[in-house]
Amino acid sequence: MSASLKGKSVIVTGGSKGIGKGIASVFAGHGAKVLIVARNLKDAEATALELTKAGGTASACTGDVTKLADMQAAAKTAVDRHGGLDVLCANAGIFPQAKIEDLDPQTWDEVVDTNLKGTFISVKACLPYLKNSKQGRVVITSSITGPVTGYPGWTHYGATKAGQLGFMRTACIELAKYGITVNAVLPGNVITEGLANLGEEYQRTMAASVPLKRLGTVAEIGNAAAFFASAEAAYITGQTLIVDGGQIVPESLEALASA
Ligand code: NAP
Repeated sequence: MSASLKGKSVIVTGGSKGIGKGIASVFAGHGAKVLIVARNLKDAEATALELTKAGGTASACTGDVTKLADMQAAAKTAVDRHGGLDVLCANAGIFPQAKIEDLDPQTWDEVVDTNLKGTFISVKACLPYLKNSKQGRVVITSSITGPVTGYPGWTHYGATKAGQLGFMRTACIELAKYGITVNAVLPGNVITEGLANLGEEYQRTMAASVPLKRLGTVAEIGNAAAFFASAEAAYITGQTLIVDGGQIVPESLEALASA
């Protein structure tokens, strides 16, 4: 796997923090040339510097996935700096918690715009360049929340994460003629800056509900993304990979406790 990613040009949206940073780090570790895209340029540059100091090739560019012009500029930046574009990791996402009774339509729109429309916009902006790659790949960061499970306060979020898979299943058919594959990683609960904001109690409870008894690491999600982007995954498209420590498997907490 590592050999086939060497020299590939990769965009990671939301690559400045959390899972995106983990994805960027794994790709850079495999010798890929990584462009980190996020709204806050300083954060993106700090992450790029970290990866560069670790021996990787990485740089940063500001961009908001809800804006087509931003993502078109980001895609062109990757091509200008790295001679092409092979992989888009559509990872940027937000997950403010609010139950239906408290959820205002504006927050709904922000979450849908970022997570779902942002996926479409990122793919659309990168497509002209991915078509020129011999190993064009789109790897979407979805979630178990929405496609498989539910969690109070995340109707909007779950709808977007399930929606990304609906998008993927048609996108993979449309883009197959260009040799581009489209797949999705579905993380469970992963230790990130975003998750830390939900508090220690949330993290402790979630870890207890996972058969492997811990939260995931960002590198473990990065490894799954790198697999989908590798030459070894060339015949896999329109598929999902759950990376959750077995969290969705137990029928009940009793099933987990009696193991
Ligand atoms: P995070 O730590 O909060 O990081 C989010 C990243 O996305 C940051 O780099 C942020 O940078 C960027 N971002 C947010 N809005 C953006 C926008 N409009 N345009 C461009 N970049 C934007 O979040 P995370 O936990 O790593 O989550 C990343 C992805 O993993 C999301 O899609 C999320 O749904 C998914 N996920 C996370 C978990 C988990 O346990 N953490 C579980 C399942 C799925 P700026 O703010 O500077 O733009």
